[in-house]
Amino acid sequence: MSRACVIGAGFGGLALAIRLQSAGVETVLVEARDKPGGRAYFWQREGFTFDAGPTVITDPNCLRELWQLSGHDMADDVELLPVMPFYRLNWTDGTNFDYSNDEAALRREIARIAPADLAGYDEFLRYSARVYQEGYVKLGHVPFLDFKSMLKATPALVRHQAWRSVYSIVSSYIDDEKLREALSFHTLLVGGNPMTASAIYALIHKLEKDGGVWWPKGGTNRLVAAMVTHFERLGGTVRLGDPVARIHTLGDRASEVETASGWRERFDAVASNADIMHTYRELLGEAPRGREMAHKLAAKRFSPSLFIVHFGLEGNWPGIPHHTILFGPRYRELLSDIYEHGVLPRDFSIYLHHPTVTDPSVAPPGKSTFYALVPVAHLGKLPIDWNQVGPLLEERVLAEIGRRLIPDIDDRIVTKFHYSPQDFADDLNAYHGSAFSLEPVLTQSAWFRAHNRDDRLRNVYLVGAGTHPGAGIPGVVGSAKATAGLMLEDLA
Ligand SMILES: Cc1cc2nc3c(=O)[nH]c(=O)nc-3n(C[C@H](O)[C@H](O)[C@H](O)COP(=O)(O)OP(=O)(O)OC[C@H]3O[C@@H](n4cnc5c(N)ncnc54)[C@H](O)[C@@H]3O)c2cc1C
Repeated sequence: MSRACVIGAGFGGLALAIRLQSAGVETVLVEARDKPGGRAYFWQREGFTFDAGPTVITDPNCLRELWQLSGHDMADDVELLPVMPFYRLNWTDGTNFDYSNDEAALRREIARIAPADLAGYDEFLRYSARVYQEGYVKLGHVPFLDFKSMLKATPALVRHQAWRSVYSIVSSYIDDEKLREALSFHTLLVGGNPMTASAIYALIHKLEKDGGVWWPKGGTNRLVAAMVTHFERLGGTVRLGDPVARIHTLGDRASEVETASGWRERFDAVASNADIMHTYRELLGEAPRGREMAHKLAAKRFSPSLFIVHFGLEGNWPGIPHHTILFGPRYRELLSDIYEHGVLPRDFSIYLHHPTVTDPSVAPPGKSTFYALVPVAHLGKLPIDWNQVGPLLEERVLAEIGRRLIPDIDDRIVTKFHYSPQDFADDLNAYHGSAFSLEPVLTQSAWFRAHNRDDRLRNVYLVGAGTHPGAGIPGVVGSAKATAGLMLEDLA
């Protein structure tokens, strides 16, 4: 029986471990932190459950497949609740736009804001469906190991004008600025600037339309727990709270994995779900290949980071939907400040997460759980002391929510804390504290992204946000499918 080690229990690592174990490979999953989940870590405070990261669960079928591989049913381990509307978008002039896959409701919303854009929306939807088919259904789980595979995809990229940005494509169909923002902001959910992320990412619109938006009962942490339960049921081993310190190599192969506690074992194949820079620079740092790749990666563009305020409130807000985007006064210019200039602007856009409206179980009775997320430049661009800035920004973010949604927020706070770019770096070994790894621009996608199998070390594999196809749960679960395919072929 072959033995594999997967380093890191993020969604990508968990999905890969399940695929390997389902195929009969004895798999050990080694995680640095005390809990699995990676970006999807969680905290419990004063009866509130605070999920750290992903809250918008799309394409549930890519998750169900992980159970179906061994004849199991995901529904036995976790319940998915539908979220409706998908998002409420709110602008500073008070305009709201409820976004969902209810065709009639969405058309009413578009007509309310800009009736002239209805025909353009239909065309945009057709474009989104085409790139979804090409970029996600066909290529979302295919490893791009050589330039030939990239050349094969080129005609489709040209046909769909992949060199253009999502915002530029949306703008070619839609005239109203608010609707342009409403149909382009999604790339931010995977770390991309709508002004520069490839138009291929317009596929997210169709992905959400077909697959819906879901919430795991009890929180995203329950989905992570379900994946662990399933992996262990299949016979897999999870080792928590023991960071990998080194992947030992012998010639062009990884030989052993060693952790901080001194645990050291030999494996036939080693896959890393940890941050790609951390994997090459630290874990493979003693091998020439590790140093070479770390040098190359340092020249790449990394996605921004995030500043997140978690808070629990006294009271319930049935009128605040599960997902609200509070746009700030600027869109394009704010994105430039975050992605290009690396400054901390006075204004910001907020994604407000309010799970209790879908699932009261994540807060004590009569209370509500929230998080407010603000994209900010990563530490490489904005090397500030977050211990000093964090409390000030937390205050400003809560004040903005008070001004726009909950006037007496200060009197209602039961508990609060924030999570900064420095925490991403410290807790997750995230390079520059980036929240989504490599930025999703065309020149860092597919073959140009870190490969699912290393080019030189024949039994070293990568999985997760830094690899093809990229960040987001469907992305990293797709990367696990690509990586598992390679590993199973090589181990056969
Ligand atoms: C705040 C936030 C909100 C998001 N919202 C959404 C959303 O709503 N929907 C969506 O689809 N996506 C969302 N995303 C993106 C999505 O969460 C991520 O792209 C995805 O979860 C990353 O998964 P991953 O497999 O790359 O691993 P990660 O989650 O990055 O996990 C990597 C794991 O490796 C571990 N590790 C690191 N170093 C070592 C070491 N030396 N030894 C052992 N283990 C190590 C880490 O501790 C971690 O557990 C969000 C991300 C963030 C940060």
